[in-house]
Amino acid sequence: MLINLNGNLVQKEDAKISVFDHGLLYGDGVFEGIRIYSNNIFKLKEHIDRLYDSAKFINLDIPLSKKEMIEEVVKTVAVNKLKDGYIRLVVTRGEGDLGLDPRKCKKATYFIIADKIVLYPDEFYKKGLSIITVATRRNVNEALEPRVKSLNYLNNILAKIEANNAGSLEAIMINQQGYVSEATGDNIFIIKGNNLITPSLFCGVLNGITRATVIEIGRKIKMNVLENVLTRYDLYTADECFLTGTAAEVIPVVEIDTRKINGGIPGTKTKVIMREFKKLTKKIGVKVKYKT
Ligand code: PMP
Repeated sequence: MLINLNGNLVQKEDAKISVFDHGLLYGDGVFEGIRIYSNNIFKLKEHIDRLYDSAKFINLDIPLSKKEMIEEVVKTVAVNKLKDGYIRLVVTRGEGDLGLDPRKCKKATYFIIADKIVLYPDEFYKKGLSIITVATRRNVNEALEPRVKSLNYLNNILAKIEANNAGSLEAIMINQQGYVSEATGDNIFIIKGNNLITPSLFCGVLNGITRATVIEIGRKIKMNVLENVLTRYDLYTADECFLTGTAAEVIPVVEIDTRKINGGIPGTKTKVIMREFKKLTKKIGVKVKYKT
């Protein structure tokens, strides 16, 4: 496997960054997780746009144009001859001193890993997930904006630990106002009648690429798509529920805090959305060509 480290393709063993890198010392950096489906890098442009927005928010200069970054991603996938897989693109503040002042970091570091993806086991796509809401609140927007996909994932990890301790595969986080935000690495949707509802971006959620794709699908299949505030009441009384994310794709939820959703089986509309999503994954994005 070859890793792209600041534009150089190096062996995994040689892909090393400084212990003075502020990405490591302070979680000062941004990242993206991107999927490849049958040589198609799904919604690559949208991921790059979000990466640059995250970087802009944290005042981080990425030393490449968006076009150049797209080329670097494509190059990395091509050289690894990856047909289906997952890309992790990380940009850190770079090497500085032991203080946290980002001005001491002269140049951002970036690296791109193209690898295979570990999914939820297939059975969960068929039988659905049982999940819980947790006590760890979602970061407050004014403190650490959840729309920024930063290297600071401790908020999400603390929620994940709660889920692990409770024997649940995922955790739903509630925000400071008591509204539902998102799962630790996925967005959440519910279905009530013909309404397809997801927490609005102001509820403390990442502007998920899969979320946006599902919103498009919902409109196409003539559902009434709403971005709104949701409480745990709305979750428990939903007709159907599912999570969305690049890694998880669209995965049904059949139980929340012991309340069964749709009698404990994946819903019909959820299954339609899952099928429509699969179709789009090979269509929208940047195609990679390489010699086999
Ligand atoms: N929320 C969080 C906190 C995430 O980390 C992710 C995955 N990157 C998502 C939602 C889903 O976003 P996307 O569909 O762009 O992968």
